Amino acid sequence: MIDNKTVRTRIAPSPTGELHIGTLRTLLYDYALARKYNGQFIFRLEDTDQKRYVTGSEKRLLKTINAYGLNWDEGPDIGGPFGPYVQTERLEIYNKYIKELIDKGFAYYCFCSQERLDNLRVTQKASQKIPRYDQHCLKLSKDEIQKNLDNKVSYTIRLIVPKNETIIFEDAIRGKIKFNTNEIDDQVLIKSNGIPTYHFAAVVDDHLMKITHVFRGEEWLTSTPKHLLLYRYFGWEAPIFAHLTVLLNPDGKGKMSKRSGSTHAKTFLEEGYLPEAMLNFLMLLGWNPGTEKEFFTLEEFIKEFDISHLHKKSPIFDRKKLDYINGYYLRQKNDEELSVLFKKFLPQASDDQIKILIPVLKERIVKLSDLPIQTKFLFENIEYEKSLLLEYKDKILDSKLVIDMLRKTKEFFNDFSNLQERLTNLIKENNWNIGEYFMVFRVAICGSKFTPPIVDCLPALGQEKTLKKLEIAISKLTN
Ligand code: GLU
Repeated sequence: MIDNKTVRTRIAPSPTGELHIGTLRTLLYDYALARKYNGQFIFRLEDTDQKRYVTGSEKRLLKTINAYGLNWDEGPDIGGPFGPYVQTERLEIYNKYIKELIDKGFAYYCFCSQERLDNLRVTQKASQKIPRYDQHCLKLSKDEIQKNLDNKVSYTIRLIVPKNETIIFEDAIRGKIKFNTNEIDDQVLIKSNGIPTYHFAAVVDDHLMKITHVFRGEEWLTSTPKHLLLYRYFGWEAPIFAHLTVLLNPDGKGKMSKRSGSTHAKTFLEEGYLPEAMLNFLMLLGWNPGTEKEFFTLEEFIKEFDISHLHKKSPIFDRKKLDYINGYYLRQKNDEELSVLFKKFLPQASDDQIKILIPVLKERIVKLSDLPIQTKFLFENIEYEKSLLLEYKDKILDSKLVIDMLRKTKEFFNDFSNLQERLTNLIKENNWNIGEYFMVFRVAICGSKFTPPIVDCLPALGQEKTLKKLEIAISKLTN
């Protein structure tokens, strides 16, 4: 409870595709506040913009949230006392409230054609004015309105915005915010197809669903005065608004975009980031614990979360930090847990191979999708140029020497036991340069100079395949 009210927060995405990583961050703060105060967290689908509707996205949104280990108390799939939780299923409710607003004289019918509105915009722009509806239809008489309605003239319903008034509100993150109503257009509340706009539906729903705190992106800040007018006209108490900063691209330039990798919450899981690591990263991307502590379980975060510690400055989506956090969480896992995760990302590996790979790779990967890349040589014959076997730093090795190394190594592997120690002896006995030898060996086995600790990986490759790869390398240099 805050101020004697049960805390109720909501995430209200539109079904326009996958869950955005920024939405997941907002959701996490919504979730934490509701859980901290034993309140409720609600999922509401804002699907009033049918043009942007992407089939199946509702299910995908919910599935992704679940995949991050988060859940909601009320929503389209589980219902709840304030349902339905899909806006297009609430049209009758909006109808009732828009009528109330018209009757009270706070909203009006607008019969202007698109053509008139377009012309108006062009003229206003030409005379350097901010495009704004000129309230042409506000002047219509009751009779004229009725006549248009009887004649079924297409209409929208607009909000009446008073002239030259200052609207002030306290944003929980940004403090006092002021808007002059002259900057605000008479917002369309109901579109010509009878469906409400986001502004109207969101206000009605937040009120009816008893939402106490609205966390949302700063792109909605300029909409807030319109929403506040609606709250005032209806005589409703407005929720607390907290407009979160936008996430910036890793280079600090511009709003986070696909340019720097995916922005879908789901893709991060597919790339092998752990949900708990992602959440920890998102916690710190806009919230500051006020201490040096970096790692938070969800429970710890819920306990410590405080709106007054939300950032005012846009954070950079720092992928290096994400990798660091993910690496940390990976290394907290025991072998049993890692085995389940490794199997998911290496479905072709046997249990024995997984067992061998865990200790070798767990310190070396930052995310699980590094596994198939680092272990490709175990499952595939990798093509490479023979010159790769001969290049060491900036010199070219004598091919006779390299062939000798490879032949002796192949012979050596007829015994596949105690590899590490015996291999060291082999190198010593032959007076080979260790650096040169291992470069040749790595290329022969992996087709690349950059490999995981190769000798440790050999048991996962097995004797037969090791010999085969050496054979191929020798034939590259002898044919
Ligand atoms: N449907 C809006 C969105 O997808 C929600 C904005 C809000 O939270 O009020 O961003």
